Amino acid sequence: MDFSKITEVEFELLMQASEDFGRFGKSERICSRCGNSFEHFTNGNSYQTKCKTANCLDIVSRGI
Ligand SMILES: [Zn+2]
Repeated sequence: MDFSKITEVEFELLMQASEDFGRFGKSERICSRCGNSFEHFTNGNSYQTKCKTANCLDIVSRGI
């Protein structure tokens, strides 16, 4: 995970969105920076949750 570019609050939001995607396959949370929605990708054993706006909130996590 890359914590350097986002605040703690934004990190929490991304983690919650990521959890939504894991549980429900979607998230209705809204990006706190731009108001757009989030999308989620799985790539091998890592996954990414990001704002649909380019270069906005973005987190990549390793599978647990
Ligand atoms: Zn955004």
